[in-house]
Amino acid sequence: MLEQVVALSDGSIVHFREIARSEAPTGNTLEAACYRTVLCLATEHADEIDRRYPKVLRRVGGYNLDESPMPRSPSTCEDHGRLRRDAGRRARSQAAPGTPAESESRNVIPFADLLESLSAIPAILVHKPSAVEVMDKSILDFTRQNAALDRIRNEYIEGDPGATLCVEFYADRKEDLPPRLEALEQDLRARHLGYAYRSETDLPAQAKIWSLREAALGLSTAMKGDAKSISFVEDTAVSPEKLRDFIARFLDIIHSHETTAGIYAHASVGCLHVRPVIQSEDRAGSPEVRSHRAIGSGPSAGIRGALSGEHGDGFVRSPFMRQMFGPVLYEAFREVKRAFDPLGILNPGKIVDSPPLTANLRFGAGYQTPNPDSWFDYSEYGGMGGAVEMCSGVGACRKKLAGTMCPSYMVTREESHSTRGRANVLRLAMTGALGESGLGDDGVYEALDLCLECRACKSECPVGVDMARYKSEFLASYWSRHGTPLRARALGNIHRLSVWGSRLAPVSNWLAASPPVRWLNAKVLDIDPRRTLPAWRHETFERHRSVPGQASVTLFNDTFTNHYDPEIGIAAVEILVQASDLPLAMK
Ligand code: SF4
Repeated sequence: MLEQVVALSDGSIVHFREIARSEAPTGNTLEAACYRTVLCLATEHADEIDRRYPKVLRRVGGYNLDESPMPRSPSTCEDHGRLRRDAGRRARSQAAPGTPAESESRNVIPFADLLESLSAIPAILVHKPSAVEVMDKSILDFTRQNAALDRIRNEYIEGDPGATLCVEFYADRKEDLPPRLEALEQDLRARHLGYAYRSETDLPAQAKIWSLREAALGLSTAMKGDAKSISFVEDTAVSPEKLRDFIARFLDIIHSHETTAGIYAHASVGCLHVRPVIQSEDRAGSPEVRSHRAIGSGPSAGIRGALSGEHGDGFVRSPFMRQMFGPVLYEAFREVKRAFDPLGILNPGKIVDSPPLTANLRFGAGYQTPNPDSWFDYSEYGGMGGAVEMCSGVGACRKKLAGTMCPSYMVTREESHSTRGRANVLRLAMTGALGESGLGDDGVYEALDLCLECRACKSECPVGVDMARYKSEFLASYWSRHGTPLRARALGNIHRLSVWGSRLAPVSNWLAASPPVRWLNAKVLDIDPRRTLPAWRHETFERHRSVPGQASVTLFNDTFTNHYDPEIGIAAVEILVQASDLPLAMK
């Protein structure tokens, strides 16, 4: 079902759906003007549309004039056809790969090199898979950085392949799958394509295999230092049988720039994400040149592909619309945009009339990665600026339903309270884009204030952005300029305070809970008087430790376990002693 309720640029709410051409609204409304414009442009330019629109399985570039009814004669604008959609919006619902159903299987096939794997696609498609996903060696190698992914890789992928295809099959009945898997394997073996054929019909195993592919995007951006795998020509699509040749030409261009690329995604529909590795000094101006050359390797060299298979145009691909669709259709796109948005208030510069590709670069000409003095060691990233720049903007921190990262975003739904928002704010502050105040800026303090320092981002962010660490770094800088608040000093000395709290418990607890002390805490330390402070324990964990023999396991005893929750430490000691028979030392 293709339909959508849409707010037009004048605020009117309309319902776009499949209707007979004769049902198209008429009159002076914006909705009627949109219908008139799209229908007439589709009719007038029917031949050009047929000639210029790439015939590929995935394309989201430009406006979909090709999917509007196109009577052959321009004079028959009143012809009856089916109006499938408005000019720019898409409401197609499509089963995404990666959601295992009961009658589904995944077949993992490693190949010696990427081009061999792509040359196998036409043969695989004959077996009618539901999806074929590819990961090249550089993406697979990134999985080595993550222990859990590395284990999965070792379990399911044989050897050290140049690329791996993950072939999915759906069937109504589970018993229909094995013969299809067998047929595929025999076919590929006979053609000498691939060197191992591992199939899984078990759902947990399939989910593990898929987790490798899912991690690919984040992993491909996980490069430390100046060189980054950048997305700017990463969404091209060609017909699957031309994919091998297209990628071969694409790689020639990339190699001619003495660099490499990570390649992954949807081989079955010819849509691959190619992310060239670019040094920061090259990121300032040359993407435009590179993109032009990349485009030249595809559509203008006879392959007739799409510049954007599934991500849309945006500022990165819009500058190439005229080149992709030609001057006639480009002018038609401008008319479509004007019809829907006469005042130019929605997404200006997207699809048509875009600014130059280099106008909004995050790393502009002369950009230098900032490297402020820091307390922690960031040498593996080339300094603190390099560590913050690890945030590639993927936005995994904006998830709302799973995991822990990022609690402050889950509650506020504000970009500035997400890990990505904070990384951007820090980067802007360090580069001086927020003015001279830099890391002493009050706005930066505000953005970081709600960070709970839970460190969920350190483990859940694909590139391991460690915002809690950066917050500590920022606060050290901010407070060195603005003075350290008493509350921070008191909490920073909690280990010393707790020694006395435990020694004097339960008197200290009674005092802390008394109204005068609560009042004082509110005034001096900004602690809400309604809060009950955690109670000190007279019997600290330290007093309990008594493990005979020579130590060979070390347990670090922290302030909170020691003075507030000693039973946690006691239980940990019991488990360690019973599990290992090893004597224990405690620090
Ligand atoms: S440490 Fe801060 S930024 Fe990272 S997930 Fe926790 S609250 Fe969010």
